[in-house]
Amino acid sequence: MQTQELLVTEESLDPVDWKSMRALGHQMIDDMFGYLESIRERPVWQPIPDQVKAELTQSLPTEPESPEKVYEDFVQNILAYPMGNIHPRFWSWVIGTGTPLGMLAEMLAAGLNPNLGGGEHVAIYVEAQVLDWCKQMFSYPARASGLLVSGGSMANLVGLTVARNTKAGFGLRTQGVQAAPQRMVMYGSSEMHSSIQKAVELLGLGSESLRKIPVDADFQIDINAMQNAIAEDRAAGHLPFCIVGNAGTVNTGAIDDLNHLAEIASREKMWFHVDGAFGALAVLSPELKPKLAGLERADSLAFDLHKWMSMPMEVGCALVRDAAAHHDAFSLTPAYLSHGTRGLAAGSHWFSDYGIQLSRGFRALKVWMSLKEHGVKKFGRVIQQNIDQAQYLAKLVNDAPELELLAPVPLNIVCFRFKANGMDDQALNELNAELLIRLHESGIAAPSYTELDGKYALRVANVNHRSRREDFDLLVETVRRLGNELLKE
Ligand SMILES: *Cc1c(COP(=O)(O)O)cnc(C)c1O
Repeated sequence: MQTQELLVTEESLDPVDWKSMRALGHQMIDDMFGYLESIRERPVWQPIPDQVKAELTQSLPTEPESPEKVYEDFVQNILAYPMGNIHPRFWSWVIGTGTPLGMLAEMLAAGLNPNLGGGEHVAIYVEAQVLDWCKQMFSYPARASGLLVSGGSMANLVGLTVARNTKAGFGLRTQGVQAAPQRMVMYGSSEMHSSIQKAVELLGLGSESLRKIPVDADFQIDINAMQNAIAEDRAAGHLPFCIVGNAGTVNTGAIDDLNHLAEIASREKMWFHVDGAFGALAVLSPELKPKLAGLERADSLAFDLHKWMSMPMEVGCALVRDAAAHHDAFSLTPAYLSHGTRGLAAGSHWFSDYGIQLSRGFRALKVWMSLKEHGVKKFGRVIQQNIDQAQYLAKLVNDAPELELLAPVPLNIVCFRFKANGMDDQALNELNAELLIRLHESGIAAPSYTELDGKYALRVANVNHRSRREDFDLLVETVRRLGNELLKE
């Protein structure tokens, strides 16, 4: 009786009016479905007006606003100026497209909001299930360990951490890299992704310990050059400990000879890591699968699910063949996290023992739902479709007198440029850079760019399940038009 008289007013962050929040939720879903269904009719990208940028430099909100007003701000200022990567003519960098069910899965995951660091609850078993599915996709051993992470960069860091600790040959976790008796050296091609170098730097090995081996005309690692580098490093008293194979490079989609790299790693008693961020998924295309032979021999494998598997960001995956080595690299269990045998703190999968994060979100749900929704065969068909579209675009480029293909097209990436008689590379570089900006500003299509042998290349990286052949027709038509306009200026 006493306590009631105190009249304590306690608050929560739940809505005061559940009914109007529910109505708002329904409206958001309706609006987003309308948006996704009509995505093709909108520009790929538009410059952000200054007034919208100004809206996003306000001071910290101190008082409540109605959810309806907050949502209105989102529609006004955010929904209208997206990156564009969900549009059918977006082919910049390598960025996935996402799906409607993936979007809904994100909502369900946030609603349940579990922590997948560990414990005995069902979300943990969902992640274990999708990791098993990933192993099956790549014919990777069932006893391997794995972890869903934010993306390929983190997956590379996880794999390379296990590589470093396992091959160091001393108590690296306690003594640190300073105690290494020899410089630990890693090898990969000059086309390796920047996240590999970041990992080497973060691991305290220093970027000078990463040998960037030259590539051949197909942008694959020159294996003889790598073997020579390993021999030289051994002669100099260093410890060659890891080879990184590329399964799909960012510049051109090149796939290294993974079987050959696996053999050398095994002979040299080195770790074999494969960065397959997007390209590894080409195993789902029966036509491309043979090119990836040897992938399943990797000691660790990094790949993304938010690129060529079209799942909403962020989600990538690291698989490690030697589960004990993986556990030994990351497990650290203070008393308050000790694993029980019964109750909520039990459970056989403590993912926090296999990576950097303790609190971990329910990334696994969108993977589980998406794989069930489409089945892996359909993903394979869509991946093959993207590869066929890249070939189609390469042919359009070859058939157009003003266009020039700048690299082979082994996968889903097409590098080309607009060309004109009598212009040197320098002038062509400037022309193509301006052309790309005008293309973006036109809202018609969004490729990105790279530089190949000093040549500025328009780069189309196609992991877009919404693209159709007519989109590539329009791209080529527009590039020719803009290029000719620029020539006249
Ligand atoms: C995208 C990419 C990465 C990095 O992956 P994120 O998901 O962006 O962190 C690494 N390697 C390659 C080859 C990539 O294409």
